[in-house]
Amino acid sequence: MKVVGSLDAMRAARASLPDPLGLVPTMGFLHEGHLSLVRHARAECASVAASIFVNPTQFAPTEDLSSYPRDLDRDLEMLEAEGVDLVWTPSEDEMYPAGFQTWVTVETLTRPLEGAHRPGHFRGVTTVVAKLFNAFQPQRAYFGQKDAQQAVVVRCMAMDLDFPLQVIICPTVREADGLAMSSRNSYFDPQQRQAAVVLFQALSRASEAFDSGEREADKLRQLMTETLAGEELARLEYISVAHPDTLEELSGPIDSGLLSMAVFIGKVRLIDNMLVGEQRES
Ligand code: AMP
Repeated sequence: MKVVGSLDAMRAARASLPDPLGLVPTMGFLHEGHLSLVRHARAECASVAASIFVNPTQFAPTEDLSSYPRDLDRDLEMLEAEGVDLVWTPSEDEMYPAGFQTWVTVETLTRPLEGAHRPGHFRGVTTVVAKLFNAFQPQRAYFGQKDAQQAVVVRCMAMDLDFPLQVIICPTVREADGLAMSSRNSYFDPQQRQAAVVLFQALSRASEAFDSGEREADKLRQLMTETLAGEELARLEYISVAHPDTLEELSGPIDSGLLSMAVFIGKVRLIDNMLVGEQRES
Protein backbone atom coordinates (compact mmCIF):
# COMPACT_ATOMS: atom_id res chain seq x y z
CA MET A 1 0.00 0.00 0.00
CA LYS A 2 1.35 3.37 -1.01
CA VAL A 3 0.74 6.35 1.32
CA VAL A 4 1.28 9.81 -0.14
CA GLY A 5 0.87 13.38 1.08
CA SER A 6 1.29 15.60 -1.96
CA LEU A 7 -1.09 15.87 -4.90
CA ASP A 8 1.77 15.27 -7.36
CA ALA A 9 2.83 12.05 -5.62
CA MET A 10 -0.80 10.94 -5.50
CA ARG A 11 -1.34 11.53 -9.23
CA ALA A 12 1.88 9.66 -10.04
CA ALA A 13 0.88 6.68 -7.88
CA ARG A 14 -2.68 6.67 -9.24
CA ALA A 15 -1.39 6.60 -12.84
CA SER A 16 0.15 3.16 -12.25
CA LEU A 17 -3.04 1.66 -10.78
CA PRO A 18 -5.29 -0.41 -13.05
CA ASP A 19 -8.86 0.71 -13.87
CA PRO A 20 -11.51 0.52 -12.65
CA LEU A 21 -10.33 2.39 -9.55
CA GLY A 22 -12.67 2.53 -6.56
CA LEU A 23 -12.33 5.57 -4.29
CA VAL A 24 -13.36 5.69 -0.60
CA PRO A 25 -13.21 9.25 0.77
CA THR A 26 -12.97 9.45 4.60
CA MET A 27 -12.10 11.78 7.46
CA GLY A 28 -10.19 9.00 9.20
CA PHE A 29 -10.62 7.46 12.68
CA LEU A 30 -11.87 4.48 10.77
CA HIS A 31 -14.42 1.91 11.90
CA GLU A 32 -16.32 -0.98 10.36
CA GLY A 33 -18.59 1.44 8.48
CA HIS A 34 -15.63 2.83 6.54
CA LEU A 35 -14.18 -0.66 6.08
CA SER A 36 -17.44 -1.90 4.59
CA LEU A 37 -17.04 0.73 1.85
CA VAL A 38 -13.47 -0.44 1.26
CA ARG A 39 -14.67 -4.06 1.05
CA HIS A 40 -17.35 -3.15 -1.50
CA ALA A 41 -14.70 -1.32 -3.54
CA ARG A 42 -12.22 -4.19 -3.22
CA ALA A 43 -14.83 -6.68 -4.44
CA GLU A 44 -15.85 -4.58 -7.45
CA CYS A 45 -12.70 -2.76 -8.62
CA ALA A 46 -9.24 -3.62 -9.96
CA SER A 47 -7.66 -1.13 -7.56
CA VAL A 48 -8.79 0.73 -4.46
CA ALA A 49 -7.79 4.14 -3.13
CA ALA A 50 -8.81 5.94 0.06
CA SER A 51 -8.37 9.49 1.25
CA ILE A 52 -8.01 10.57 4.86
CA PHE A 53 -8.67 14.27 5.26
CA VAL A 54 -10.54 16.05 8.05
CA ASN A 55 -12.04 18.66 5.76
CA PRO A 56 -12.12 22.02 7.57
CA THR A 57 -14.53 23.65 5.11
CA GLN A 58 -17.40 21.35 6.05
CA PHE A 59 -17.22 22.28 9.75
CA ALA A 60 -18.89 25.45 11.08
CA PRO A 61 -16.75 27.54 13.49
CA THR A 62 -18.89 26.22 16.39
CA GLU A 63 -18.36 22.57 15.44
CA ASP A 64 -15.79 19.96 16.50
CA LEU A 65 -13.01 20.42 13.90
CA SER A 66 -10.19 20.82 16.45
CA SER A 67 -11.34 17.91 18.62
CA TYR A 68 -12.32 15.58 15.76
CA PRO A 69 -10.69 12.19 16.61
CA ARG A 70 -7.56 11.26 14.67
CA ASP A 71 -5.32 8.18 14.64
CA LEU A 72 -3.47 7.98 11.34
CA ASP A 73 -1.23 5.00 12.21
CA ARG A 74 -4.19 2.87 13.18
CA ASP A 75 -6.15 3.98 10.09
CA LEU A 76 -3.29 3.01 7.77
CA GLU A 77 -2.96 -0.42 9.42
CA MET A 78 -6.67 -1.03 8.91
CA LEU A 79 -6.57 0.06 5.25
CA GLU A 80 -3.51 -2.04 4.55
CA ALA A 81 -5.22 -5.09 6.07
CA GLU A 82 -8.15 -4.55 3.67
CA GLY A 83 -5.87 -4.56 0.64
CA VAL A 84 -6.09 -0.86 -0.24
CA ASP A 85 -3.54 0.14 -2.91
CA LEU A 86 -3.20 3.87 -2.38
CA VAL A 87 -3.96 6.32 0.45
CA TRP A 88 -3.81 10.09 0.12
CA THR A 89 -3.41 12.07 3.33
CA PRO A 90 -3.28 15.67 2.07
CA SER A 91 -2.51 18.58 4.39
CA GLU A 92 -4.97 21.49 4.63
CA ASP A 93 -2.51 23.63 2.63
CA GLU A 94 -2.30 21.03 -0.10
CA MET A 95 -6.08 20.90 -0.41
CA TYR A 96 -6.72 24.61 0.09
CA PRO A 97 -3.60 26.58 -0.91
CA ALA A 98 -3.43 30.33 -0.32
CA GLY A 99 -5.79 32.09 -2.73
CA PHE A 100 -8.27 29.20 -2.90
CA GLN A 101 -11.70 30.62 -3.78
CA THR A 102 -13.62 28.17 -5.95
CA TRP A 103 -16.60 26.35 -4.50
CA VAL A 104 -19.01 23.70 -5.71
CA THR A 105 -22.59 24.20 -4.54
CA VAL A 106 -25.58 21.91 -4.99
CA GLU A 107 -28.65 24.07 -4.50
CA THR A 108 -32.11 22.72 -3.63
CA LEU A 109 -31.04 19.36 -2.20
CA THR A 110 -28.78 21.02 0.39
CA ARG A 111 -31.46 23.30 1.85
CA PRO A 112 -33.45 20.95 4.16
CA LEU A 113 -32.32 18.53 6.91
CA GLU A 114 -28.57 18.81 7.60
CA GLY A 115 -28.29 21.82 5.32
CA ALA A 116 -30.83 23.77 7.39
CA HIS A 117 -28.86 23.17 10.59
CA ARG A 118 -25.29 23.19 9.28
CA PRO A 119 -24.99 26.22 6.98
CA GLY A 120 -22.07 25.85 4.58
CA HIS A 121 -21.57 22.17 5.43
CA PHE A 122 -22.48 20.75 2.03
CA ARG A 123 -20.55 23.44 0.18
CA GLY A 124 -17.47 22.10 1.97
CA VAL A 125 -18.42 18.49 1.25
CA THR A 126 -19.15 18.92 -2.45
CA THR A 127 -16.05 21.07 -3.00
CA VAL A 128 -13.70 18.57 -1.41
CA VAL A 129 -15.39 15.58 -3.08
CA ALA A 130 -15.14 17.30 -6.48
CA LYS A 131 -11.43 17.89 -5.83
CA LEU A 132 -10.99 14.24 -4.81
CA PHE A 133 -12.80 13.07 -7.96
CA ASN A 134 -10.55 15.28 -10.09
CA ALA A 135 -7.42 14.15 -8.29
CA PHE A 136 -8.07 10.39 -8.27
CA GLN A 137 -10.09 10.04 -11.49
CA PRO A 138 -11.91 7.00 -10.04
CA GLN A 139 -14.43 4.99 -12.04
CA ARG A 140 -16.40 4.28 -8.85
CA ALA A 141 -16.75 6.20 -5.59
CA TYR A 142 -18.18 4.69 -2.42
CA PHE A 143 -20.26 6.53 0.19
CA GLY A 144 -22.35 5.40 3.17
CA GLN A 145 -26.13 5.52 3.52
CA LYS A 146 -25.39 6.66 7.10
CA ASP A 147 -25.03 10.17 5.63
CA ALA A 148 -28.17 9.93 3.53
CA GLN A 149 -28.38 13.55 2.41
CA GLN A 150 -24.66 13.60 1.57
CA ALA A 151 -25.20 10.54 -0.64
CA VAL A 152 -28.03 12.23 -2.56
CA VAL A 153 -26.11 15.51 -2.85
CA VAL A 154 -22.86 13.88 -4.05
CA ARG A 155 -24.72 11.80 -6.60
CA CYS A 156 -26.41 14.94 -7.95
CA MET A 157 -23.10 16.83 -8.09
CA ALA A 158 -21.38 13.98 -9.95
CA MET A 159 -24.20 13.91 -12.49
CA ASP A 160 -24.52 17.69 -12.92
CA LEU A 161 -20.76 18.17 -13.40
CA ASP A 162 -20.43 15.15 -15.71
CA PHE A 163 -17.91 13.25 -13.61
CA PRO A 164 -17.43 9.99 -15.52
CA LEU A 165 -17.93 7.77 -12.49
CA GLN A 166 -20.52 5.79 -10.63
CA VAL A 167 -21.48 6.86 -7.08
CA ILE A 168 -22.20 3.76 -5.02
CA ILE A 169 -24.08 3.97 -1.72
CA CYS A 170 -23.42 1.21 0.83
CA PRO A 171 -25.73 0.26 3.73
CA THR A 172 -25.25 1.68 7.23
CA VAL A 173 -23.12 -0.52 9.50
CA ARG A 174 -24.37 -0.68 13.08
CA GLU A 175 -23.13 -1.77 16.50
CA ALA A 176 -24.77 -4.86 18.03
CA ASP A 177 -27.45 -2.72 19.74
CA GLY A 178 -28.23 -0.80 16.54
CA LEU A 179 -26.23 2.41 17.06
CA ALA A 180 -24.88 3.49 13.68
CA MET A 181 -21.09 3.40 13.71
CA SER A 182 -19.52 6.85 13.71
CA SER A 183 -16.11 8.28 14.52
CA ARG A 184 -17.97 10.63 16.89
CA ASN A 185 -19.21 7.71 19.04
CA SER A 186 -15.74 7.80 20.63
CA TYR A 187 -16.79 11.02 22.43
CA PHE A 188 -19.37 9.23 24.60
CA ASP A 189 -19.13 8.28 28.27
CA PRO A 190 -20.78 4.91 29.07
CA GLN A 191 -24.12 6.44 30.06
CA GLN A 192 -24.31 8.54 26.89
CA ARG A 193 -23.28 5.56 24.81
CA GLN A 194 -26.24 3.64 26.19
CA ALA A 195 -28.60 6.56 25.56
CA ALA A 196 -27.38 6.93 21.95
CA VAL A 197 -29.21 3.77 20.88
CA VAL A 198 -32.46 5.77 21.10
CA LEU A 199 -31.98 7.02 17.52
CA PHE A 200 -32.05 3.46 16.21
CA GLN A 201 -34.99 2.65 18.45
CA ALA A 202 -36.97 5.63 17.17
CA LEU A 203 -36.23 4.81 13.52
CA SER A 204 -37.02 1.13 14.07
CA ARG A 205 -40.32 1.94 15.73
CA ALA A 206 -41.43 4.08 12.79
CA SER A 207 -40.09 1.60 10.25
CA GLU A 208 -41.94 -1.29 11.94
CA ALA A 209 -45.11 0.78 12.06
CA PHE A 210 -44.74 1.45 8.32
CA ASP A 211 -44.27 -2.28 7.69
CA SER A 212 -47.43 -2.97 9.70
CA GLY A 213 -49.41 -0.63 7.46
CA GLU A 214 -49.00 2.85 8.97
CA ARG A 215 -48.62 5.21 6.01
CA GLU A 216 -49.24 8.67 7.51
CA ALA A 217 -46.04 10.72 7.52
CA ASP A 218 -47.23 12.72 10.54
CA LYS A 219 -47.84 9.54 12.51
CA LEU A 220 -44.37 8.21 11.66
CA ARG A 221 -42.80 11.51 12.79
CA GLN A 222 -44.86 11.35 15.99
CA LEU A 223 -43.70 7.80 16.79
CA MET A 224 -40.05 8.86 16.41
CA THR A 225 -40.56 12.01 18.50
CA GLU A 226 -42.25 10.03 21.28
CA THR A 227 -39.47 7.46 21.41
CA LEU A 228 -36.81 10.17 21.63
CA ALA A 229 -38.74 11.97 24.35
CA GLY A 230 -38.38 8.84 26.50
CA GLU A 231 -34.59 9.28 26.68
CA GLU A 232 -33.73 12.16 28.97
CA LEU A 233 -30.16 12.55 27.65
CA ALA A 234 -31.44 13.05 24.09
CA ARG A 235 -32.19 16.51 22.68
CA LEU A 236 -33.91 16.49 19.32
CA GLU A 237 -32.68 18.87 16.61
CA TYR A 238 -34.87 17.69 13.76
CA ILE A 239 -36.91 14.73 12.74
CA SER A 240 -37.99 14.12 9.18
CA VAL A 241 -39.98 11.93 6.85
CA ALA A 242 -38.82 13.06 3.41
CA HIS A 243 -38.88 11.97 -0.20
CA PRO A 244 -35.80 9.73 -0.66
CA ASP A 245 -34.71 11.49 -3.89
CA THR A 246 -35.89 15.10 -3.60
CA LEU A 247 -35.56 15.25 0.23
CA GLU A 248 -38.81 17.25 0.37
CA GLU A 249 -40.71 16.83 3.61
CA LEU A 250 -43.74 14.60 3.11
CA SER A 251 -47.25 14.80 4.52
CA GLY A 252 -50.26 12.54 4.18
CA PRO A 253 -49.96 8.89 3.20
CA ILE A 254 -46.61 7.78 1.74
CA ASP A 255 -45.43 4.81 -0.34
CA SER A 256 -41.79 5.29 0.52
CA GLY A 257 -39.71 7.70 2.53
CA LEU A 258 -36.45 8.59 4.16
CA LEU A 259 -36.84 8.67 7.94
CA SER A 260 -34.03 10.76 9.40
CA MET A 261 -33.04 12.73 12.47
CA ALA A 262 -30.32 14.71 14.20
CA VAL A 263 -30.13 14.36 17.96
CA PHE A 264 -27.75 15.70 20.59
CA ILE A 265 -26.63 13.30 23.30
CA GLY A 266 -24.82 15.68 25.63
CA LYS A 267 -22.63 17.78 23.34
CA VAL A 268 -22.36 15.09 20.67
CA ARG A 269 -24.54 15.53 17.61
CA LEU A 270 -25.65 12.28 15.96
CA ILE A 271 -27.52 11.67 12.72
CA ASP A 272 -29.17 8.48 11.57
CA ASN A 273 -31.75 7.39 9.02
CA MET A 274 -33.73 4.49 7.56
CA LEU A 275 -35.42 4.09 4.22
CA VAL A 276 -38.96 2.68 4.19
CA GLY A 277 -41.06 1.49 1.30
CA GLU A 278 -40.22 0.84 -2.32
CA GLN A 279 -36.65 2.15 -2.29
CA ARG A 280 -35.66 0.36 0.88
CA GLU A 281 -32.23 -1.33 1.14
CA SER A 282 -32.41 -5.08 1.19
P1 AMP B 1 -16.56 10.14 7.42
O1 AMP B 1 -15.17 9.67 7.74
O2 AMP B 1 -17.42 10.24 8.63
O3 AMP B 1 -16.57 11.37 6.56
O4 AMP B 1 -17.21 9.00 6.54
C1 AMP B 1 -16.63 8.56 5.35
C2 AMP B 1 -17.60 7.70 4.60
O5 AMP B 1 -17.97 6.58 5.41
C3 AMP B 1 -18.90 8.43 4.25
O6 AMP B 1 -19.31 8.05 2.95
C4 AMP B 1 -19.86 7.93 5.29
O7 AMP B 1 -21.22 7.95 4.88
C5 AMP B 1 -19.38 6.49 5.47
N1 AMP B 1 -19.79 5.96 6.77
C6 AMP B 1 -19.61 6.53 7.99
N2 AMP B 1 -20.20 5.78 8.95
C7 AMP B 1 -20.77 4.72 8.32
C8 AMP B 1 -21.53 3.60 8.76
N3 AMP B 1 -21.84 3.40 10.05
N4 AMP B 1 -21.96 2.71 7.83
C9 AMP B 1 -21.68 2.90 6.51
N5 AMP B 1 -20.96 3.94 6.04
C10 AMP B 1 -20.51 4.84 6.92
